[in-house]
Amino acid sequence: MKRRAMVVGNWKMNGLIETAQELAQEILEGLMERENRQLLCEVVLCPPFTALYALHAPSSSSLKLGAQNMSPEPGGAFTGEICGLMLRNVGCRYVILGHSERRIHFGESDALIARKLEAAFRDGLIPIACLGENLADREEGRTLDVVDAQLQALLTAIPEGPQPARQQMVLAYEPVWAIGTGHNATPEQVQEVHRFLRQRLSDTLGEELGGRMRILYGGSLKPQNAAAIFAQPDVDGGLVGGASLKAAEFLAIIDAVSNPKEPVLIR
Ligand code: PEP
Repeated sequence: MKRRAMVVGNWKMNGLIETAQELAQEILEGLMERENRQLLCEVVLCPPFTALYALHAPSSSSLKLGAQNMSPEPGGAFTGEICGLMLRNVGCRYVILGHSERRIHFGESDALIARKLEAAFRDGLIPIACLGENLADREEGRTLDVVDAQLQALLTAIPEGPQPARQQMVLAYEPVWAIGTGHNATPEQVQEVHRFLRQRLSDTLGEELGGRMRILYGGSLKPQNAAAIFAQPDVDGGLVGGASLKAAEFLAIIDAVSNPKEPVLIR
């Protein structure tokens, strides 16, 4: 099954309009240089809501825009919320859902994340749905049970039928203990969870959709560790936090996926 590799930059709550534009421009220029060398990877930038509209123009076929969160509601009296149609209106194609920072700091439950996932499908956005265990789960040997429970909750929200978004949906495995900590998982730990998730996707959604869905790794990805993680057969790219705020580092991570040393990288 061929899957196009993908690298997503999650800028979190960083960047005013001017700095966001500068960073996006640097990344775009880097991608344009690489286009001549056949960039085989899809790249998505997820800046804060306030910078989305300003980055609408720099986005291109090689650079797509995504949001970091959305409301499950279609619109109306929900003060402070932003709905999927608004995100589409400012040029978003993707939306990150269920990031561990939203689960931890904003109390987002599996049930709420599943509602947001349904809303993303309804509003024509492609979800990048995050899951991952915390340190205690890993140390106590519960990793696969925890990610399975999170996955099953997400899968309840996937609509039946052959809609393109259903087939394009992206999963991101992000062990909580590796996010922003500098402690990334080893390539073997990542592959074990990705292989498990792929199997569970196939069991639940069928071989075809399970084999087609991209599974990204996120957690302290850096130019130094990206190639070894991306070389794992069930890793289809990365969700990058801190390193996506520096164009040179982010581009080097993109190079690690799009200039594979191992032919298995681009499927
Ligand atoms: C993230 O925010 O999704 C993330 C993986 O962050 P970092 O790369 O900084 O660990």
